[in-house]
Amino acid sequence: MEGWVSMPKVELHAHLNGSVRDSTLLELARVLGEKGVIVFSDVEHVILKNERSLTEVFRLFDLIHILTTDHKIITRITKEVIEDFASENVVYLELRTTPKKNDSIGMSKRSYLEAVLEGIKAVNTVNVAFRPHNADVSNVKRSSLINDTCNGSTRKKIYVRLLLSIDRRETTEAAMETVKLALEMRDLGVVGIDLSGNPIVGEWMTFFPALKFAREQGLYITLHCGEVPNPKEIRAMLDLLPQRIGHACCFEEEEWKRLKSLNIPVEICLTSNIRTNSVRSIEVHHFADLYNSKHPLVICTDDSGVFSTSVSKEYNLAASAFGRSDFIGACNVLEGGKFQLARNAIEYIFADDEVKRELKEIFNSAELDQ
Ligand code: IMP
Repeated sequence: MEGWVSMPKVELHAHLNGSVRDSTLLELARVLGEKGVIVFSDVEHVILKNERSLTEVFRLFDLIHILTTDHKIITRITKEVIEDFASENVVYLELRTTPKKNDSIGMSKRSYLEAVLEGIKAVNTVNVAFRPHNADVSNVKRSSLINDTCNGSTRKKIYVRLLLSIDRRETTEAAMETVKLALEMRDLGVVGIDLSGNPIVGEWMTFFPALKFAREQGLYITLHCGEVPNPKEIRAMLDLLPQRIGHACCFEEEEWKRLKSLNIPVEICLTSNIRTNSVRSIEVHHFADLYNSKHPLVICTDDSGVFSTSVSKEYNLAASAFGRSDFIGACNVLEGGKFQLARNAIEYIFADDEVKRELKEIFNSAELDQ
């Protein structure tokens, strides 16, 4: 496991509120319990439970949102989540979150996002490069590559980019508001739009206008696609030509053919798919087929807090499950060396060639050091 932790990694599918530490959630729940807003003993076991169906996961998100939806707390969890990913050597992180409006506490989608940006600036265990290279200022010098040296001591560095999520419960207008916000915040590291939320809720045509607009404006698009069987929606999603999709658990032959012909990279979240029963077992997970057919894919956590996982654990799981010769979908995920699968992810990030070049240098240098 240690080998996977020390290896540089790229995380492209991580939901902010799904990546919160259990200890933070318990602390926040205790405070709300003391205020009489919730009954702590009722929620403690919900937070600590490991196995959850997809429906239970979305109930947990409702609880997490009660605990976290306050500007200061959003800033805190953003800081902690980035520090946690950096501590396991994630060197490039695309963090996604749904901007939330809550009139009762004076929260608008914009102020929610500003609280997230404050959290990025508050990170202090690692240097964070979050502005695109063409933006005026960055909190990290351009010239510094792998690590930044300050007063003779070297600090680690992580690139962070933001994706704004549209929740499937939202209206067309709310989805459009999120896209417009993303466009305004481009210089502050917002690079794209995600569509997520409970897959059995909402209609594709509700989100389509906002997603189409986002695409026309040059924002990157990634969609939660095929988490439940819904061939019509899957086809419509692929027709939009998103730059990536997440999950792809319930594709039929026709949809695989189309996905493969379009060469759209897939964000693979093994633990999440198994825990939520979106895929029956690791033995039948589509990772193997995609890997064997050399389809672009990237290993991700989805919700490291909710599923008690980490990027290193996901790589370890892929290597130990799919590397076994007695395994139905056996494929040599260590082919080309341990770093190759993680390094491939660089090609699918939503950032410019300069960032890709710097990330490749980080990987090369780490490989030489092993
Ligand atoms: P947030 O956007 O930061 O609040 O992160 C939590 C939200 O991400 C949830 O409320 C869902 O809308 C979305 N999400 C997290 N995991 C999943 C998933 O596996 N499928 C679909 N949506 C998800």
